[in-house]
Amino acid sequence: MSSQTANRALRRKLGSRVATDENSRFRASFDGSKLAWKPDAVVRPASEDDVAVVLKLANRHRVPVTTRGGGSSLTGSASPVNGGWVLDLSDWSKLRIDPVAGMAYAQAGVRTGQLQRAAEKKGWFYPPDPSSKEFGTLGGNIACNAGGMRGGKYGVTRDYVLALRGVLPTGEPVSWSRDLRKYAAGYNMRDLWIGSEGTLGVMTEAVLRLVPKPAAKWTILASFNNETAALRTVKSILGARLVPSILEFLDRESVACAEAATGRPVFAGQAGRPVLLIELDGHAMEVEEDRLALLDILRERATAVRDTSEPEEAEALWEVRRKCSGAMFELGDRKLNEDVVVPLRSQIKLIGFIRRISRETRTPIATFGHAADGNFHVNIMYHRADRDASRRALRALNALMKKVIELGGAISGEHGIGLAKTPFLELEHDKAEIAAMRAVKQALDPNNILNPGKIFEVTRVWNETPLTVRLPWDHR
Ligand SMILES: Cc1cc2nc3c(=O)[nH]c(=O)nc-3n(C[C@H](O)[C@H](O)[C@H](O)COP(=O)(O)OP(=O)(O)OC[C@H]3O[C@@H](n4cnc5c(N)ncnc54)[C@H](O)[C@@H]3O)c2cc1C
Repeated sequence: MSSQTANRALRRKLGSRVATDENSRFRASFDGSKLAWKPDAVVRPASEDDVAVVLKLANRHRVPVTTRGGGSSLTGSASPVNGGWVLDLSDWSKLRIDPVAGMAYAQAGVRTGQLQRAAEKKGWFYPPDPSSKEFGTLGGNIACNAGGMRGGKYGVTRDYVLALRGVLPTGEPVSWSRDLRKYAAGYNMRDLWIGSEGTLGVMTEAVLRLVPKPAAKWTILASFNNETAALRTVKSILGARLVPSILEFLDRESVACAEAATGRPVFAGQAGRPVLLIELDGHAMEVEEDRLALLDILRERATAVRDTSEPEEAEALWEVRRKCSGAMFELGDRKLNEDVVVPLRSQIKLIGFIRRISRETRTPIATFGHAADGNFHVNIMYHRADRDASRRALRALNALMKKVIELGGAISGEHGIGLAKTPFLELEHDKAEIAAMRAVKQALDPNNILNPGKIFEVTRVWNETPLTVRLPWDHR
C-alpha cells in the first residue's frame, strides 16, 4: 500500500491534525543528533483516542510511527529513520501538582523545567535535572530514563515515575500502576516502558513523585593538580559518607575550553587544571556540617577552593561547567558525545585510558561528568571535512566503548541507544539478553510499528550529518 493511501486514511480520520507540508516534515525529521530522515506526515493528536487511531491505522497500513517530544535526543532516537509518521506530543502540557500527596500529574509534553518550577512554587522538588530541561519533555525523559547532575544523591527519572498512561503499539489504551507509592500487582510494565525509547508504547500521562524542596544549598569549586587527584578526592568524599547533590568532574581539556571561551582562568594562576564542582543541599544545619567536612577533605587535596551560599556567586562558580560543552567546538566542528558509566573503582582508569587514546589517535577528547554516579560525558572532537580525523575519532570511540565494558561499565547512562549506539549494544549485552528484549518488542509490537530501527538494528550513521541546522540548544 502506498504512503499516499495511508496518509489519506489518516487525514480522513484526523483532518487538520495531520501535516504533510515541507516545513512540518523537515522540523520533525531530526533530533539533537542532527541525523535526519523526512517523515511522510506529522500528526499532532488532540486526545488519547487520536493516538489510538494513529496506531491502529499504522498497523493496518504498516506505517512506522516515531513518537516525538522536544526532539532533543542526542542519539537519533527521535529521528524517523524509516520515514512514516511522526506523532508529536510536544504541546501536551497540562500539569497539576498535588501539594499534600507530593505528586505531579503531567501530560507527556510538559517540559522538565516547567514541572520543576511548578513543584518549587508549592514547596516541593523534582530532582531529575537533564541540561535539556527547557526543551526536553517528560515523555522524552521517561522514554530515555533521563538523568542529569543530581543522580548520585537523588537518582534518575525512573526513581520518580509512579504511574504511566498511554497506548500500546497496537492501539489499546493502558494504565501502568496508579498514583500510589506502593504497587505490586502483576508484571511491572511501567518500568519496562521507562527507558524503552518509544519502542513499546506511547506515553500520554505520568504521575511523578516529588520530594520536599531542600531549604539550603552550598556550592564549592575546587581545582586539582591532575585528574587522578580530583578523582581520588571523589572517592574520599563518598567514602566519608558525604552525599553531595552535585559532584561534577571536569578534566583539564574541558576546563581549558571554558577558559578559552571566557578569556580568563577559573582560578588565577592555575589555568587548565581539572576541577570538581560540588553542591550540597538539605536542611541548613546538615549542609553546614557537610560543608565543613568537605572543606577538610579539599584542604588536603585541592590546589584552590572557592565556596558560597550566595546564588549570584554560585552562578559564577558554575560558569566553567556551563561554558565547557559549547566551547569544545573550537576543537572540532563535530562531537561524538558519549555518556558512558563506570563504577567508582574504575573512574581513574577510565580517565587515564581516555587521555591515552586521545594521544594515540591524535584526537582531542574532553571529558566531564557526574562523578558521584560515574556517568561521564566523553566528547570526542574532530573536523568533519577531514576524513582521516573522522576515522581516528571513530577509532577512539570504538576503543572507548570496549574499555568501558572491560571496566565493568555501561555504554550509556542517560542518553540511551537510539541509532548512534546500536553498534555497541552487543558489547554490553549477550545474545540471550538481546533475544529477551527483542521478544518483548515482538510481543507488544508484532508489526514493528513503533520506532523501528532503534536500539537493535545497526545503522552505521554516526559519522554522517545529513543535516546542517542550528538547533535551539546549539551553543554557537
Ligand atoms: C543540550 C542538551 C543537553 C542534554 N542534557 C541531558 C542530560 O543532562 N541528561 C539526559 O539524560 N539527557 C540529556 N540530553 C538528551 C535529551 O534531552 C534527553 O534524552 C531527553 O529526555 C529527551 O526528551 P525529548 O522530549 O526531547 O525527547 P525526544 O528527543 O523527542 O525523544 C526521545 C525518545 O523518546 C521517545 N518519546 C518521546 N516522547 C515520548 C512519548 N510521549 N511516549 C513514548 N516515547 C516518547 C522518542 O520516540 C525517542 O525515542 C540533552 C540533550 C541536549 C540537546
